[in-house]
Amino acid sequence: MAQCYKVAVIGGGTAGLVTAKELQREGHHVTVFEKANRVGGTWLYNPQVETDLLGLDPKREIVHSSLYRSLRVNLPRQVMGFLDYPFANKEGGDPRHFPGHEEVLRFLEDFAWDFGLMELIRFGHEVVRVERVDETCHEWVVESRTRETESKWESKEEVFEAVVICNGKSTEPRNAEFPGRDTWPGLQMHSHNYRTPQQFENKTVVLIGDGPSATDILREIAPIAKQVHQAVRGPNSQLKRLEKHDNAWQHSMIESAHKDGKVVFQDGSIVDADVIIHCTGYKYHFPFLKSNGIVTVDDNRVGPLYKHVFPPSLAPWLSFVGLNYKAVPAVVIELQAKWIAEVISAKLELPKQEAMAYSVEEFYREMEKEGWPKHHTHNLLYNEFEYIGWLAAQLDIRHPNWWENVTYQSVVKMRSHYGDRFRDAWNIDKWMQEMDSPTSAD
Ligand code: FAD
Repeated sequence: MAQCYKVAVIGGGTAGLVTAKELQREGHHVTVFEKANRVGGTWLYNPQVETDLLGLDPKREIVHSSLYRSLRVNLPRQVMGFLDYPFANKEGGDPRHFPGHEEVLRFLEDFAWDFGLMELIRFGHEVVRVERVDETCHEWVVESRTRETESKWESKEEVFEAVVICNGKSTEPRNAEFPGRDTWPGLQMHSHNYRTPQQFENKTVVLIGDGPSATDILREIAPIAKQVHQAVRGPNSQLKRLEKHDNAWQHSMIESAHKDGKVVFQDGSIVDADVIIHCTGYKYHFPFLKSNGIVTVDDNRVGPLYKHVFPPSLAPWLSFVGLNYKAVPAVVIELQAKWIAEVISAKLELPKQEAMAYSVEEFYREMEKEGWPKHHTHNLLYNEFEYIGWLAAQLDIRHPNWWENVTYQSVVKMRSHYGDRFRDAWNIDKWMQEMDSPTSAD
């Protein structure tokens, strides 16, 4: 008979909801702390932006979601659902394979209702401290606060036997650094605070980065901006005009920015710009976690974590879901959640603490040997299927064939094949069928 524990889940986004569902299925007593008043996390669009548009001020009022108003998903909906709960078309919804963000929110809300999760969630409760009761036991104090009035907060402490951290990874901006950044006179913002294009009308905009947000934002502002200059890293970065836009160019990275408004690129080109938008990703941030130095964030490596989930010396009583990127998030999140739930129930066993610690060290050594920088620790670009295959094997799950073929990398390849119009041009059903056939991996 499996043991049941009192478990706190921090966050009611995709990861928190799936984790709560899996823990509940195992019979654990689950409380989800969610600082917003609705589920959805990232998918809860907020037209507000932060007061400090680069997110440098640690005291700023945080806006959680980084969605822009026009956002349509960049992975097909077929890979955004769960094993027993596909992201299917619903009557009155957005039937497209790459729907708008509202459809994802609806899907997550339905998921929460259908699995009876709403009653587990404490809405409007922000966790401000997670700390072990004392160093000899594995109980945790979770301190949360909720607003009583506009200016008054009420705090509460509770003890849990396990804590799962699902607070999201796309809220704390990671900005580009270059000489002159902090004295450059124009407007600078991180894509976290981009919502709509209007304010860029007739402006000369420098956009840093070439991920999905940079690509979407460029496409959206180019028709109304005076000029757009995209600064990208890598061997192919050189000055060239971007196809499909007669006012947009690609450059290498920014060399420096100057008090007269000029931005100098490493390729030697110079532009007089009004705005710089940093589409440069996010930093992991756990301001509430007091682990006495056991878990740290060092150059965007959260560690030490066994398989990106368990700190060896605190396992399984502390865990993380959803840290990985350049992977299909729903698949990774669901498997991590199932693994945690079954390990806490003692249905599955973890290796001994020393063995987990050794495995983490070995992983770090391997990264170093391959020349992978520390900040890529949770990047699954080159080992996504190996990782999800490993998790599925722990759980004895026979996964659908497409898991092996529909990786983040294969989706990106198809996106670049179809270009800007990939969301409407790509025949997803046919592609999924091919990918799901047993011979497609040959
Ligand atoms: P989140 O959704 O961020 O949820 C975290 C939750 O924790 C939030 O509700 C937050 O309020 C809560 N929280 C945080 N701190 C506290 C605290 N201290 N106390 C209480 N609650 C707290 N994925 C896809 O699959 N397809 C896409 O097309 C796609 N597009 C994306 C586009 C953008 C612009 C971004 C930023 C992300 C995109 N993603 C996409 C990734 C997406 O974020 C993940 O798929 C997934 O939704 C992440 O879920 P999460 O639960 O880990 O985090």
